[in-house]
Amino acid sequence: MSNSPKEVTHYEVAIIGAGFAGLGAGIRLKMTGSTNFIIFEN
Ligand SMILES: Cc1cc2nc3c(=O)[nH]c(=O)nc-3n(C[C@H](O)[C@H](O)[C@H](O)COP(=O)(O)OP(=O)(O)OC[C@H]3O[C@@H](n4cnc5c(N)ncnc54)[C@H](O)[C@@H]3O)c2cc1C
Repeated sequence: MSNSPKEVTHYEVAIIGAGFAGLGAGIRLKMTGSTNFIIFEN
C-alpha cells in the first residue's frame, strides 16, 4: 500500500442524492452562480 499523499478537492457544498431534492438544490446553486459543489449518488 502506498503512503503518497492523495490530491484532495474541496467543495463549498456537498449534496447527497440526485433525486428531485438533490437536483433541485444543484440547479438552484447554479442559478445563483455557484459551481463549487458536488452531488453524490448511490
Ligand atoms: C412508486 C412511486 C411513484 C411516485 N410517483 C410520483 C408521481 O407521479 N408524482 C410525484 O410528484 N411524485 C411521485 N412520487 C414521489 C416522488 O418520487 C418523491 O416525492 C421524490 O422522488 C422525493 O425526492 P427526494 O429528492 O426527496 O428523494 P429521492 O427521489 O428518493 O432521491 C434521493 C436520492 O438519494 C440517493 N441516495 C440515498 N442515499 C444516498 C447516499 N447515502 N449516498 C448517495 N446517494 C444517496 C438515492 O439513490 C436517490 O437517488 C412517487 C414515489 C414512488 C415511490
